[in-house]
Amino acid sequence: MLDRFLDGRRALVTGATSGIGLAVAEALAAAGAEVQINGLGDAGQVEAARAAVRAAGGREVRHHGADLRDAAAIRAMLDAAGPIDVLVNNAGVQFTASLGDMPDERWDQIIAINLSACFHAMKAVLPGMQARGFGRVVNIASVHGVVASVAKAPYVAAKHGLVGLSKVAALECAAAGSRESGGVTVNCVCPGWVETALIEPQIAARAAQAGGDRDAGIRALLAEKQPSGRMALPSEIAALVLFLCRREAHNLNGAALPVDGGWTAQ
Ligand code: NAD
Repeated sequence: MLDRFLDGRRALVTGATSGIGLAVAEALAAAGAEVQINGLGDAGQVEAARAAVRAAGGREVRHHGADLRDAAAIRAMLDAAGPIDVLVNNAGVQFTASLGDMPDERWDQIIAINLSACFHAMKAVLPGMQARGFGRVVNIASVHGVVASVAKAPYVAAKHGLVGLSKVAALECAAAGSRESGGVTVNCVCPGWVETALIEPQIAARAAQAGGDRDAGIRALLAEKQPSGRMALPSEIAALVLFLCRREAHNLNGAALPVDGGWTAQ
């Protein structure tokens, strides 16, 4: 039997029209939460995501089209959403270039979506969570929240910022609620390579170096940093997010949890 431990809880997942966010939304819905999703995409992509989450949980799924570069749009989304018990800040973008070649617009875009949007969303939901004595914020950071790689200046800066921001929020919420109510926690999940659209340009670049062989491109990418040699699946990231939402995780707070095949153990 499914464990619907999130029955009666409302969740919002940003960037849930594809990849990790969609898998997280499905997992939360399967655990009983009323899930609302945010994310970009054409009507077909949005409807497909809503249908997938509905199929996982058996309820209507509301979509918010807010562009997370816009703080006012984030506030309006959270006003419209109603009280949120589980917030998953997942939306993120990537662009690779050396620091000297990084376009200013890419810096602004990546800092806005991968970092500032998380601040604005947390600012909107944390007071309510503290007042109710239960809340979960899970920020999808990255190994790049704890270590760096070349050609990713804005991404690494944003993800390191997100890990620090989450620690402050965790401290400020630590004493809210009780063991019985479940408390309020704020954590980061820090994936290494996960099989999603976000890393396709990087796979394509390695595949081109390997004469167009995609599998060889993936092997080359993983061999550099991820000792397991295996990418994670979005559903595997979602499984950890789900655990963090359980009542018994009330003391797991302010952590940056790696899911990186040993990358950051080196
Ligand atoms: P993805 O490209 O499949 O999904 C990104 C989501 O963010 C999409 O739903 C997209 O619509 C949304 N989004 C992008 N810009 C937006 C905006 N301005 N407003 C609202 N939504 C916007 O990527 P993914 O791999 O599933 O990435 C999800 C998160 O996981 C990101 O924060 C990413 O940095 C992180 N991450 C991914 C990997 C990986 O290997 N794929 C590794 C570590 C961390």
